[in-house]
Amino acid sequence: STSSSLREVAVLGATGSIGSSALDVIARHPDRLRATVLAAGRNVEALLELCRRHRPRHAVIADGKALPALREGLRAAALDTQAHAGDALDALISGDACDTVVAAIVGAAGLPSTLAAARAGKRLLLANKESLVLAGELLMRAAHEGGATIVPIDSEHNAIFQCLQGRQDDGSGEVSRITLTASGGPFRGRDRASLANVTVEQAVAHPKWSMGPKISVDSATLMNKGLEVIEAHHLFGLPGDRIGVLVHPQSLVHSLVEFIDGSTLAQLGLPDMRTALAVGLGWPRRLESGVAGLDLLAEGGRLEFEPPDTDAFPCLRLAFEALAAGGTAPAVLNAANEVAVSAFLQRRTGFLSIPALVEDALEALPPVAADCLDTLAEADARARCHTEAAIAHHA
Ligand code: NAD
Ligand code: MG
Repeated sequence: STSSSLREVAVLGATGSIGSSALDVIARHPDRLRATVLAAGRNVEALLELCRRHRPRHAVIADGKALPALREGLRAAALDTQAHAGDALDALISGDACDTVVAAIVGAAGLPSTLAAARAGKRLLLANKESLVLAGELLMRAAHEGGATIVPIDSEHNAIFQCLQGRQDDGSGEVSRITLTASGGPFRGRDRASLANVTVEQAVAHPKWSMGPKISVDSATLMNKGLEVIEAHHLFGLPGDRIGVLVHPQSLVHSLVEFIDGSTLAQLGLPDMRTALAVGLGWPRRLESGVAGLDLLAEGGRLEFEPPDTDAFPCLRLAFEALAAGGTAPAVLNAANEVAVSAFLQRRTGFLSIPALVEDALEALPPVAADCLDTLAEADARARCHTEAAIAHHA
């Protein structure tokens, strides 16, 4: 398609934090962008509100029991949006309802739709990092074979994508190292013992970014950065020992790429995901995103960096170990973490149990080669069972 044509966008996870940022950018460019498919998990009222505002051709609610309410609400609003349950999503994404997919469902639940977009050769704006952690090789292969362009919508990976000017991997051997920056989360500077009794409210109160509950807890444990190391490995084709992490409390430098000639490029900007989404929606052109430019003096005039503390935050170490172990280890890491974080959010387990439960699952379920989706799905299911049982046992 030409640069002047209309891009038709499916927003998966439309009612979430990334989904609403994506729709904000899309609505700024009615001449270039249109939301044609909106998909959400359970919240019919929120999805209906988005349908009234964006008038998509299709609305998908994952929870089939909510389909009649969605259909009724669309009729009451006199919209000609077609209502679907979640089982229709992959076919919709694969067909001609969209050319671009914002994959912003949270967790491993996002994998089937992300794979469908990759196989169908769509432009894939990939926020759902868990699908890369769980099935990175399969997903990258599907994108390659399907001719899909992946634009990472994680601020760090989007920064690296920009520094590499959209090159998908480092086949050239020109990159020596990448460094992911991390805010450090709400508990930066604290030691492990002091984290025993932190509350859900404290854990989700991120100092720099406004995000959904699961990724906010992941940021507080530093598992988010661990998942991002694995994500970076798949997206940019680098081994774990050429991926570094630096804590940068200002969250203005979004990541750095070091080249073999000694140059380091970084991308800077205010912490607002609309910039990354605009990069994905407009690439290779730049689009106005609603985010102001960076005034370094107004932001305090300082950029600070420190090493991560893996004693207080062992999840980061566990993720590096799972990446090095390979096979099903990252799938086990991700599944155990999803279950542990969900239990923490429901106040069924404590904050320090999150790394303990993940480590326990990795020890109990040693990695096997992960050559197909079935093997990965089985590892994911076993790790969920194992971790649920461990939580029930300790409760
Ligand atoms: P969120 O909790 O705010 O939103 C999640 C969305 O997924 C909601 O719309 C929910 O309805 C939908 N959903 C959940 N289960 C579903 C299912 N089974 N089928 C269909 N839809 C389902 O989460 P978020 O913060 O927007 O994060 C979404 C993804 O983006 C996560 O993978 C996260 O790691 C990643 N991400 C988010 C940010 C951020 O700033 N929020 C930054 C980087 C990466
Ligand atoms: Mg990130």
